[in-house]
Amino acid sequence: MPANFLPSLVGSMSVGAAGNPTVAMVEAAFCHHGLHWRYVNMEVPPAGLADAVRGARAMGFRGFNLSMPHKVAVIPLLDGVGESAALIGAVNCVVRRGEQLIGENTDGKGFLKSLQEVCHPRGKNIVMFGAGGAARAVAVEIGLVGAKHITVVNRGEQRGRNLTDHLGKALALSVAFVPWADDFTIPADTDIVINATSIGLYDAEARLELNLDSLKPNMVVADVVFSPPQTRLLRDAAARGCRTLDGLGMLVNQGVIGVQYWTGVNPDPAAMRRALEEAMGV
Ligand code: NDP
Repeated sequence: MPANFLPSLVGSMSVGAAGNPTVAMVEAAFCHHGLHWRYVNMEVPPAGLADAVRGARAMGFRGFNLSMPHKVAVIPLLDGVGESAALIGAVNCVVRRGEQLIGENTDGKGFLKSLQEVCHPRGKNIVMFGAGGAARAVAVEIGLVGAKHITVVNRGEQRGRNLTDHLGKALALSVAFVPWADDFTIPADTDIVINATSIGLYDAEARLELNLDSLKPNMVVADVVFSPPQTRLLRDAAARGCRTLDGLGMLVNQGVIGVQYWTGVNPDPAAMRRALEEAMGV
């Protein structure tokens, strides 16, 4: 038993927090590394967020994760935000540094960590479907490490243009927006294809409108959707010889980065992935 009987606390503030499988994943990291820490799931309605953050501060929480809509609403309640969180305009991970609560965004960083295991995006041509919160986080991180060109394909034109305008102005990136109509043909010089929409979430047969013949074996195809991990897009891409990356890797890696931020320990991603898969039943 450690000298201080009380564990260090971190947690997750979400709307509808029941059954959050990331609890098992983060606690598995603490257990695996003998850390006297706990990760607590907290259901926080939007109207209660300010009180919840004040409470976490008063109770000495070492940090916490946030889900939507808290990712944006939390920013004015914090003492500062990291570089990419500021560029993304959303915080999913708060870290106590001294007496300050600092907001970070580990979603895009988690994606990048997964991607770098198979292919570094520096100098690469990227096609990304989607322009919502996950797409914004992914695009900022791959932009910050030097992607050559990002084509954003999105159904909603305004949201797509907002994202490409932001990436062009704030990061001086080479970007293009293509409104998504019918089956999209991936340009032949594309290196990395990313689904950052919610198409496929909880629906293994949901189809991305894409000309599958334009997927070539030299392309990496990544999905942010983590349930089911093998989406229809990834199965189709693998059948055409592409290297594929599932959204579980992104989810595990955002947890890995969170544990690093909070505890200073580099956790074992394999132990965390095992616990997550078990909790999700996949
Ligand atoms: P948002 O609601 O912010 O954005 C959703 C995006 O999906 C928009 O671009 C939307 O297009 C598009 N979309 C949804 N349905 C359709 C459809 N039927 N046809 C075409 N486009 C569609 O959601 P998030 O960005 O927050 O989340 C997206 C996905 O990322 C979710 O599945 C989420 O679970 C996953 N995610 C995974 C993480 C991980 O760690 N693996 C972390 C964070 C998110 P439009 O603008 O036209 O509405």
